[in-house]
Amino acid sequence: MSNLHQVKRSLLTRPAGTDNNETAVELWTRICELLSASIPEKAFRTWFSPIQPLHYHERELHVGIPTRFFFEWIEGHYASEVDHALLSTIGEGASLRYSIQAKHGDRPRSEPSAFPEASDAVLLAESDSEPAEQLQHAATAAGLNLRYTFDNFIEGPPNRFARAAAYAVARQPGKTAYNPLLLYGGVGLGKTHLLQAIGREALTQNPRLKVRFISSERFTQDFVEAIRNNRADEFSARWRSVDLLLLDDVQFLVGRDRTQMEFFHTFNTLHQSGKQIVLTSDKPPRELRGLDERLVSRMGWGLVCDIGPPDFETRLAIVMRFAAEENVDLDSDVAYYIASSIENNVRELQGAIVRLLAFSSLTASDITMQTAQHALQDLLRGRGSVKLVGVDTIQSLVAEHFDLSVDLLSARTRVQPVAKARMIAMALSVKMTGLSLKQVGNHFGGRDHTTVLHAKNKIDEWLATDSDFAQIFQQLEHAIRSRTL
Ligand code: ADP
Ligand code: MG
Repeated sequence: MSNLHQVKRSLLTRPAGTDNNETAVELWTRICELLSASIPEKAFRTWFSPIQPLHYHERELHVGIPTRFFFEWIEGHYASEVDHALLSTIGEGASLRYSIQAKHGDRPRSEPSAFPEASDAVLLAESDSEPAEQLQHAATAAGLNLRYTFDNFIEGPPNRFARAAAYAVARQPGKTAYNPLLLYGGVGLGKTHLLQAIGREALTQNPRLKVRFISSERFTQDFVEAIRNNRADEFSARWRSVDLLLLDDVQFLVGRDRTQMEFFHTFNTLHQSGKQIVLTSDKPPRELRGLDERLVSRMGWGLVCDIGPPDFETRLAIVMRFAAEENVDLDSDVAYYIASSIENNVRELQGAIVRLLAFSSLTASDITMQTAQHALQDLLRGRGSVKLVGVDTIQSLVAEHFDLSVDLLSARTRVQPVAKARMIAMALSVKMTGLSLKQVGNHFGGRDHTTVLHAKNKIDEWLATDSDFAQIFQQLEHAIRSRTL
């Protein structure tokens, strides 16, 4: 165990060469023997069998993996097993380098990163015009909008798993264990975006793949229409012959028994012939009351992933990205303000920026904190979910709860529980007042915005890991809201 720090594992961003060398093959075979002894058989087959040994040089073993997701999954689940196997075969100082190998015949393509620079336009311009046209053509037939890509989907902890699963499916439709893949989550969190991105990526990989994207509402309408015109058979045949079915918002099938039945048969036909099905829903399947039990149970056959509301950092990245797309240079204070005011919905974040831009161009004013507060006031008030609260109220209630004097919250002391109470009050102020981090800092003895951000992050971490803490925090929030009503 003490040697574990001597072993390294990493993902290379550039594809390594494919020159198989014998030592690599031999070493990898031995490593696999060890791994298969310590990992359940099915998991071993899923995650390790597809890995190709590439080459070995000076204690560094290079292997090829099909997608980034393999690396993430192995790192998340089998890191210590891999370390042990490396130590026993290569010894101290061993390092294992993964690189993503394009399948035979694929064009090498870089993996999308969390914050890629390349826009669609650049991506398309890079390739010769013919494949771009081909892609556009295939996308139209598939019912896809090419604006949704993996590249412009911003990744953060609440959507990382869903994105990774979606990407794995897009690269190998029907060939992963995630069939069907079901993504569920609240409104405006990127379900349709990911579903569309799967279609686009799969078509980029293979323009001949028969990809079809459709909302459940549309599916229902088309089916009803087909019955009316005596063309139900045609309808069935059409949908049962696709390679990758992307069905958006399955909750719309609730209460539509005939359409559900039709979809049930479509599902069975596709699944049995190894075709990929991806679904989205606003709830987990078992909460979709009024959906046929058999459908609900089939939805659980593959992988069900939820997409949660984006955390603060992710929202900030999204705000910056939207602003950049509109060619506006947003002041970081304004970006923080928007990201902290709108918490649950990416579509609303987009709306807020559009509104802010419209406001500033109509009133010919620069985008400042004042403009932003002004422009978003109605939006925030109208929703009723954000009431502007004063920092004073927050400070006095937090101080009361911890039995401290209010002044201590602004004082320089770091003793506990003052420091903790201060962090809580700061985090609540960021959340509830609509003030920028800098402004919140000013209310706490002139602390700077990084201190406030740090407090906010710490609190988010505790909220996620400590349910007692989360309860106290919520009680405080309620108390503050009821005091300001
Ligand atoms: P849903 O289908 O879950 O209701 P959408 O996929 O329609 O949500 O997303 C709403 C809007 O927000 C879309 O314009 C989408 O591109 C954008 N969006 C959502 N999540 C992200 C994200 N993580 N990164 C970038 N844009 C996002
Ligand atoms: Mg949607």
